[in-house]
Amino acid sequence: MPLLKRCTCGEEMNLGLRTVIFAKKVNINNVPVYHCPVCGRNDVFPGVKEDVGKLVGQLGARPAPGSIPFDQVHEWAGVLSQALHDSESLQAAAIAKAAEARIDQLLDLLLIASSLEDEVWMDEIHTRLSQLSARNVP
Ligand SMILES: [Zn+2]
Repeated sequence: MPLLKRCTCGEEMNLGLRTVIFAKKVNINNVPVYHCPVCGRNDVFPGVKEDVGKLVGQLGARPAPGSIPFDQVHEWAGVLSQALHDSESLQAAAIAKAAEARIDQLLDLLLIASSLEDEVWMDEIHTRLSQLSARNVP
């Protein structure tokens, strides 16, 4: 699981969680972003890019000021946030462990939701599981 990405300037970029400010009003906290320590370039992590885009689309052109905890909106940001909390730097092993633990937790919830025949809840859990799908993992 390579966590490093090469910057256009040739330097290696680091993956971290950053606050993205939208329309100078809304702070989107804990967004996974690659950062280049040399030229300062920031690239949103590809696995969450689409969902950050959707979130910004929902906010519209004139959003109300506020903060959005992206790690609670998107499972992958949540997993990175948990891994960072556990190990202070983003290591592949810590991320894999956090992702595995979260998937187990979601599968347990899915079992409960399905035994309650709560389809809305099941759909929500499926969405969260798909956010953690292999496509999104570095
Ligand atoms: Zn660079």
